[in-house]
Amino acid sequence: MKIAFIGLGNMGAPMATNLAKAGHEVTGYDAAGVTVDGITPAQSAAEAAQTADVVITMLPNGAILRKVADEVIPAMPAGAILLDCSTVDVDSARAVADQALAAGLGALDAPVSGGIGGAAAGTLTFMVGGTEDAFNTAKPLFDIMGQKAVHCGPSGNGQAAKICNNMILGVTMIATCEAFALADKLGLDRQAMFDVVSTSSGASWSINAYCPAPGVGPQSPADNGYKPGFAADLMLKDLRLSQQAAASADADTPMGQLAEALYQSFVETEGGSGQDFSAMLPRFSGRSRG
Ligand code: NAD
Repeated sequence: MKIAFIGLGNMGAPMATNLAKAGHEVTGYDAAGVTVDGITPAQSAAEAAQTADVVITMLPNGAILRKVADEVIPAMPAGAILLDCSTVDVDSARAVADQALAAGLGALDAPVSGGIGGAAAGTLTFMVGGTEDAFNTAKPLFDIMGQKAVHCGPSGNGQAAKICNNMILGVTMIATCEAFALADKLGLDRQAMFDVVSTSSGASWSINAYCPAPGVGPQSPADNGYKPGFAADLMLKDLRLSQQAAASADADTPMGQLAEALYQSFVETEGGSGQDFSAMLPRFSGRSRG
């Protein structure tokens, strides 16, 4: 396939590389002038898109996605697919899909889980919204860039699945960190805490696979000075998207709302920006009930 890849950042560059290594003809464009070995550079997003069967976008947010969509949609050949893998708000995902469909194109929203490591290893999980036909056309590309692609329903449902998943993640990470900080103050050894909780009803991905306490459990960013990993800033972005969606859908999400407030304060006023999202543990450890 001929693929245009727009947004060659931390995630986009390794994803595009994997597609090129698998034999696809990949043309790339990034506003910051990034070039990647094996990817033919284009002068603009529209130039990259004009001969593509599939245009993949991996961009920072919904506003930028809408801007790039305005540039690429008029340039794309009839029947081509616009495949957005960024994490954006559900409303932007649905608006861009409508715009693509009205122009005679296919459209998929396919945000990912798995981070930079998963992008490099080709083991991402894709959560996909759009038609069955478009999903089936893109499936071979998902199989190269990832290990699993779940078709979640019509346009926007991929983003809906992503923000619901990450709202659970933010809430369980906070719960795990505050419980570790409480356990410390109660004199419970962290290894004992891990051994009990990871095999009891308090278990979750946050403790079992990504333990926020250094030196116990699996290797995680806690063992690397809380260098991300998954940055607290990105968790805040995803929690904001979940609360924006909850407001727009009139859903009551008090735990998600509190998680957003805690990450906002951590990132914006407590020095958490640039740290892994599991650095909530030292944050709680350094505080009193007050
Ligand atoms: P990044 O900032 O490293 O990459 C984004 C790239 O988009 C940058 O290189 C930037 O120059 C480029 N860009 C910005 N505006 C552009 C435009 N108008 N035209 C072309 N290129 C433009 O971000 P990232 O970490 O690669 O994340 C990309 C997306 O993936 C985000 O939506 C993020 O939420 C999501 N995501 C990231 C991770 C992660 O661990 N990094 C995990 C899952 C999902």
